[in-house]
Amino acid sequence: MRRIVFLLIFLFLCPIDYCYSDMDLTSELSRTASDNYSIKVLLYHNISAVETDQNNPYVVSLAKFEEQMNWLKVNGYECVTVSDMFQKFVSGELIGKIAVITFDDGYPDVYTYAFPILSAFGFPATTYLVAEKIDSPKNLTEDMIRDLYKAGWEIGSHSLTHSDLMIHENLDTEICGSRNMIAAMTGIPLSDVVSFAYPYGNADETVTTKVWKCGYQSGAGLGQIPVSSSQNPYYFSRHPVTSDMTIQDFSSLFISEGEK
Ligand SMILES: [Zn+2]
Repeated sequence: MRRIVFLLIFLFLCPIDYCYSDMDLTSELSRTASDNYSIKVLLYHNISAVETDQNNPYVVSLAKFEEQMNWLKVNGYECVTVSDMFQKFVSGELIGKIAVITFDDGYPDVYTYAFPILSAFGFPATTYLVAEKIDSPKNLTEDMIRDLYKAGWEIGSHSLTHSDLMIHENLDTEICGSRNMIAAMTGIPLSDVVSFAYPYGNADETVTTKVWKCGYQSGAGLGQIPVSSSQNPYYFSRHPVTSDMTIQDFSSLFISEGEK
């Protein structure tokens, strides 16, 4: 009885940001199965139909994008969404070659140019939206987002305003609020908005813990290494695909990592 009283007092006094998050986050991180399997996650921003400005690394030409997707197809890759990737780590359904395609910032050229190509290849993708930009000029509209979702794409959050979360301001609205806003605006079930991408790839333990507490299942960052069960799902690596990459550069992302 005394132990129960002590436990209740401890839980009552325990600061929520410290005790509950760390205990539960540890168990959350251990959910991934111990497989020796890794998956390359690609990060795109804009896809352009006109020949791209080589000075802007984040605008990949439509021709190059199609060539890259064709390379994945010809080389036997299956593409899955981010949440499907983590589900596969949990279930152990890691068969064959798997790649993940993601887009940040919610640009409409993703809908106009990338979506038809990916649909033709049968590849879904994950797109991370800046919630307050939805429906604003030069951004995806609610209707476009719903179309992507209906086609099997995953819709994730890239914060509310795209601010640097490392300054720890408005984390509730940036992380929890953006999730709620995306679901409310698009009609996508909240239970399907479970993936978050850190603006600028910046996150620390306070930020990653908040992402977990807001109901997300993963947090996307930046990095070269492929995702495996040993990586923290609340900060996993994505490799930016830049405008200057040749198809040889692109293929080496996979081959050099030992994915066969
Ligand atoms: Zn961004």
